[in-house]
Amino acid sequence: MSNSNIRVRFAPSPTGYLHVGGARTALYNWLLARQMQGVFVLRVEDTDLQRSTEESVEGILEGMRFLGLTWDEGPIFQSDRLDIYREYAQQLLDTGRAYECFCTPEELDQMRKELAAQKLDPKYDGRCRHLTEEQKEAYRQQGRKSVIRFKHKEEGKTEVRDLTHGTVVFDNSQLDDFVIIKSDGMPTYNFAVVIDDATMDITHVIRGEDHLSNTPKQIQIYEALGFQVPEFAHIPMILGPDKARLSKRHGATSVTQFRDEGYLPEAMLNYLALLGWGYDDSQTVFSVDELIEKFSLERVSKNPAVFDIKKLEWLNGLYIRELTIEQLYELTLPYLQKEGLVGTSLSEQEINRVKAILKELQPRIKLLSEIVEASYYFFTDELKYNEKAVNKILRKEQVPAILEYLLDGFAKVSDRFNQANLEPIFVQAQEKFSAKLGDIIQPVRVAVTGTNISPGIYEVLELLGYEVVAHRLKEAITLARG
Ligand code: GLU
Repeated sequence: MSNSNIRVRFAPSPTGYLHVGGARTALYNWLLARQMQGVFVLRVEDTDLQRSTEESVEGILEGMRFLGLTWDEGPIFQSDRLDIYREYAQQLLDTGRAYECFCTPEELDQMRKELAAQKLDPKYDGRCRHLTEEQKEAYRQQGRKSVIRFKHKEEGKTEVRDLTHGTVVFDNSQLDDFVIIKSDGMPTYNFAVVIDDATMDITHVIRGEDHLSNTPKQIQIYEALGFQVPEFAHIPMILGPDKARLSKRHGATSVTQFRDEGYLPEAMLNYLALLGWGYDDSQTVFSVDELIEKFSLERVSKNPAVFDIKKLEWLNGLYIRELTIEQLYELTLPYLQKEGLVGTSLSEQEINRVKAILKELQPRIKLLSEIVEASYYFFTDELKYNEKAVNKILRKEQVPAILEYLLDGFAKVSDRFNQANLEPIFVQAQEKFSAKLGDIIQPVRVAVTGTNISPGIYEVLELLGYEVVAHRLKEAITLARG
């Protein structure tokens, strides 16, 4: 693409949260805008009054802000533009490309049933296309409400030139005279989207493949109004592991939910970009800047993408490891505070201890929220002993004696409780009990953390401090004998 004045848009309907599919659509648009120094418009398609809510608008904006998908224009609300849609609908009425339809829901229902009985497509049959002024007036007198329908081209074909799918040809006979203005005066999606994309000078419409079948209708409206047809790119659907369209039943699908679980925006963007796009076969990790540089619609796949939470988690872990301790501290503190593991105002010394703990755990967590489970034993006296670990590691014949021996040794270095002084005690124990180092370390680990998985034992002991360690070893001795 050479056009540097590209204008793209993300046009969510505020009827729910920002779904990963929507976020990916927003991302692809945003990447192109940033790459081409174009303009990214945020347009809220809120003409479905029953289903649109303010919370949803807030949620969508929140999700976009979290991901850093900054918009250059907007948010523009369709509900503020109703006059514009009516004006263009009037233009179509005036040029004979639209007409009023007075059919009642019951009549339409009946019509569809009859068509279905004849095994025909249940499309609108155009019965109000040729109403005379008198007939219309009579309907009005009866108190019937009207909608405005677009008079579609019945002959020939409509070609959608799509940047990911190539040219997709639709037979015009597949379409019908669809509604453009509803009886409450609101525009339908297929109409408002065209008026907006045209009047907002959108050059590239990038959206989910579920809209491909709407595109011939939209193209006919562009043509009827003499608007220039933009470029289209319909991007593949996102599926769950069972190959059904990704939905809530597959787990978290909302961007803010992922945020709350402790996914980083960098990891989300990286992963979302890969859902339907790839640069080459080897590169998986992309910084935002690299995505901006390397993204292209040509490399967007036609095939559906399968959402792989494990891969997202893995990427998240990778990005967590790249954080500075200061950043990790800022990001994890709310989780620790929410669980009451650390207080709301911390002394310098406490802050440093938390940071030292985080440094040890940074390589071991994939989600920020995992910090709670991974670190709680540093902050509380109530150890949750893992039963398996207790049975397998603590309840061994020599263990009480080993722990007693260490307890004695530790007491002698209680005021210099660090790796340099602790290590020799472990080595002595190993010799005394003719055991492997692991057989000394593992019982201590279970004793002080409750489980058999933790950072290096010396680091853990030092961070816990002598008092806590001594207390926990005594408890463990009781437990081991029990
Ligand atoms: N409001 C539509 C949606 O959320 C927008 C589709 C489009 O981008 O044209 O599906």
